Amino acid sequence: MTHVFHRNPKKHLDIAVRGQGIEVFDQNNKSYIDASGGAAVSCLGHGHPAIIEAIKKQLDQIAYVHSSFFTTQVTEDLADFLQQHAPGELNHVYFLSGGSEAIEAALKLARQYFVETGQASRKYFIARRQSYHGNTLGALAIGGNATRRKPFLPLLVPAHHVSPCYAYRDQLAHESEEQYATRLADELEQKILELGTENVAAFVAETVVGATAGAVPPVKTYLQRIRQVCDRHGVLLILDEVMSGMGRTGHLFACDQDQVVPDIITIAKGLGAGYQPIGAMIASDRIYNAITGGTGFFQHGHTYMGHATACAAALAVQQVIQKEHLLKNVLARGEQLRTELHSALDGHPYIGDIRGRGLFTGVEFVQDKNTKAPFDPALKINSQLKTQAMHNGLMMYPSGGTIDGIHGDHVLLAPPFICTAAN
Ligand code: PLP
Repeated sequence: MTHVFHRNPKKHLDIAVRGQGIEVFDQNNKSYIDASGGAAVSCLGHGHPAIIEAIKKQLDQIAYVHSSFFTTQVTEDLADFLQQHAPGELNHVYFLSGGSEAIEAALKLARQYFVETGQASRKYFIARRQSYHGNTLGALAIGGNATRRKPFLPLLVPAHHVSPCYAYRDQLAHESEEQYATRLADELEQKILELGTENVAAFVAETVVGATAGAVPPVKTYLQRIRQVCDRHGVLLILDEVMSGMGRTGHLFACDQDQVVPDIITIAKGLGAGYQPIGAMIASDRIYNAITGGTGFFQHGHTYMGHATACAAALAVQQVIQKEHLLKNVLARGEQLRTELHSALDGHPYIGDIRGRGLFTGVEFVQDKNTKAPFDPALKINSQLKTQAMHNGLMMYPSGGTIDGIHGDHVLLAPPFICTAAN
């Protein structure tokens, strides 16, 4: 009998005893290839000596100080690294302990920005259906899953939803990528006008959709059109790169590939690669200056923000990625993975789509390839696939499920950046 309140109390879990490189070993010494980095987290695999060393070194110096008393050198150095690599004027790094915290901070910062700049009526957030931004109340409110939101509705901030950018399912046969992008941008603009421009604070989107749709990248020009709509109406653009950022797509910031700079970006998972819990929100000069030039204080904060040991781990992770030129490997191995998946699976009657960017790949399963009809949700294809894969010693992350009455079965493959051509 366990006394841990596990996320799924009815499910049996084996005990992970150790990890080495791309493998995890359980209590019976059975090995599992970690092909999803857990949930796209462990981007350097397990047991990396340089990260362990950096954590030990920091622990020998000081593990933690509260951010209202001190900063630490590693916290400053990690912020410098992120500022140097972040696009545009995203120069102000606010550290947190994970993805949901980063999103909460982003929502509150957006709201405070408008209060500070005399636009207090801007209170609505617009996000997309089939999106995931975390499980805390703010993140849940904007997340695109009505079923998950339902029990908590009275507790949630006002949020509205538009269509996702999901070419495999929603791009029309006669539409080019650009036309599809424009149609979606028009939908966002209509939503802003319907709510009243003066009431809308921000549009929030994952740069590449992860947990709900299985590594779905935006079509060409989508994010640029969205940026233009936001700018036209003074609405902030928040890009959630909690899953897709920090090199997962082959670029440290996924939106670099789309040549779009948001006003706020959120990162987490790959930042600390699972060696320590850490996330961050990075804000533009414009937003930061509005706060510092206004009340001077962001009304937010958490006990563990800027945690020295977490920052030491994350800094070491980022240094390894740079020193070993791992982003090049991410691009090459990602291409290789999708090419091999295509040649192995394209003829399979149940494979609907194979997509992704860098080492962020999704495979969508359908009952009928021609109509793209999904499987009966009762079959629980996703959990069956996960169980079977674990039985065979492979970890892959099931995404999708039934969201707002629409069913989809996908798996996410997010192998560590250290994987080789032979893996
Ligand atoms: N945003 C995105 C895009 C995510 O994929 C996740 C987690 O999967 C989150 C936010 C929430 O992050 P966390 O689970 O660290 O709170």
